[in-house]
Amino acid sequence: MARLHASATTRVLLVQGDRLAVVGDAEGHGWRLAFTAPAALPAPQDPAPTPPPRVDAADDPADVVRDAPAQEPPPLWLYLGEHDGVSYAALVLGPDDDAAALAADLRPVSPEVTEATPGWEALRTLVALDPLEQGLATQAVALANWHAVYAFCPRCGAPTQVRKAGWVRWCPGEDRELYPRTDPAVIMAVVDDDDRLLLGHAAHWSPGRYSTLAGFVEPGEALEQAVRREVAEEVGVTVAGAGADVVYRGSQAWPFPASLMLGFRARVSGRGEAPVPDGAELTDARWFTRDELLAAATSGDVILPARLSIARALIEEWYGGPLPGRW
Ligand SMILES: [Zn+2]
Repeated sequence: MARLHASATTRVLLVQGDRLAVVGDAEGHGWRLAFTAPAALPAPQDPAPTPPPRVDAADDPADVVRDAPAQEPPPLWLYLGEHDGVSYAALVLGPDDDAAALAADLRPVSPEVTEATPGWEALRTLVALDPLEQGLATQAVALANWHAVYAFCPRCGAPTQVRKAGWVRWCPGEDRELYPRTDPAVIMAVVDDDDRLLLGHAAHWSPGRYSTLAGFVEPGEALEQAVRREVAEEVGVTVAGAGADVVYRGSQAWPFPASLMLGFRARVSGRGEAPVPDGAELTDARWFTRDELLAAATSGDVILPARLSIARALIEEWYGGPLPGRW
């Protein structure tokens, strides 16, 4: 990281909380990912030397915590990788860092972008990124989210230190490495033998918003089991019997905070049962024919998920083409 910091060609993304430094036009439309040169940024530091672990550290985690020196953590630098001979890194700012000053000289990652009005935007609102920008931004936010919650070892409670360019945290109490986590979740387009699609409306969504069902994979569960369980729990519909199947369709990183969305098509046997929303997570669920969904999306009665989401991709794969919608 010291070498990358010293190189004028290294491109550094800036992350603060859930926001990234971006550039756009004067109206703030079409935000694109931005970088800055490393020279003006605080340099990465080696962590302060840590006393050797106590022999009884694992027996008495409280001692490990008490022995740790109170100090400001060094700047959090993350190595993101190399593309077309250019190295990319991210600097994660603390809540009190002067983001505007550090982002004084932002330039767009994509050479096609000519607008340069600086801004700070949450990743989930950035709908105009190209694949390189999307990959860099998603990786930076996912790693930053992990660092935010692993400041202490989950087993012994010792303060952990950043290692390996941000890809490992090290527990000095146990001489143990901790790795970034990814939590698998399933998301599924449920269809029946009449080729209708089942969509649900979550309790906390704005009126009219409908999407595919989704949920986290539980410990000890296979992905196909998670699909069947979530559909049964959320709407009381059974994905089993002759002709029923669960087919993998694709995936999407979803670092809010650490999910990997695994997309499936789940076909129920026969004509789908009337869905019964659980009332807690989902307050409505309906089967749609293609004509019904097209009409509802056109009139605005149904608001579909954002175009970049895997939910939208699963819905449009079933539909057979693009559907109308504001975004
Ligand atoms: Zn530990």
